[in-house]
Amino acid sequence: MSEPTTTSTTQDKEPSNANNSKSEIISFCSRHSAGIEECLSRYKRKWYLTYSRAYGIAQPPGTRIVCSLNVPDEKVSEEHAKRHFWLNPETLYSAPYKPDDPDYATQKFISSPIHILLDAEPSIVRLTGRTRAEKSRARDAGGKQVACFEVEVTIPEEGLLRQCYYCLGWEDGTERYKPCGDDMFWCPRCESKGSLASGINSTFEKLTRDSLIPFLDRYSFPRDNLYNYS
Ligand SMILES: [Zn+2]
Ligand SMILES: [Zn+2]
Repeated sequence: MSEPTTTSTTQDKEPSNANNSKSEIISFCSRHSAGIEECLSRYKRKWYLTYSRAYGIAQPPGTRIVCSLNVPDEKVSEEHAKRHFWLNPETLYSAPYKPDDPDYATQKFISSPIHILLDAEPSIVRLTGRTRAEKSRARDAGGKQVACFEVEVTIPEEGLLRQCYYCLGWEDGTERYKPCGDDMFWCPRCESKGSLASGINSTFEKLTRDSLIPFLDRYSFPRDNLYNYS
């Protein structure tokens, strides 16, 4: 509602001004996502498909992670891992991606991550053309090896949906969460609590979730956690 006012007039004339707080979350839909808008999220080398807002279908309510998309690859450079991943989603079932199949255009692979990502509007990723074998994380695969496609993310870093490291809240399309560490973000509420806390302590002390969020506040409802890295 309340747009932050800016005194700079040149800022508004720039077509894409990615490095300021007005940068927008990029949400996308596809014919495979049943009209649901989704986003990409990332923490370090791990990528996620996320709901762009709190849809009632998410279980438990309020959670936003649809599924994780890859097994973090520690062998590639950090820069590469910030733009690429080997698609191996943790899902109930796997669906083969065969765009050359003549029946493909008429098929709907509902909630199949590979189809959602590659048929997304607007376009968000592309295939690099490389594949490699990994143990499938789809539950119907029984741990069998599958060919994983390498995916390049073509949207800017700022377009990813962010989660608050401290209260585990998610961006809701109003105010962007600001960086508060290496690949970490905090919501405006935790940010104000945090700057207060660090103002009181004269020595720098790493803020923890416990110091910012009261015990009951954190555990009264289940939250999903992007930062649960493995
Ligand atoms: Zn669409
Ligand atoms: Zn927060």
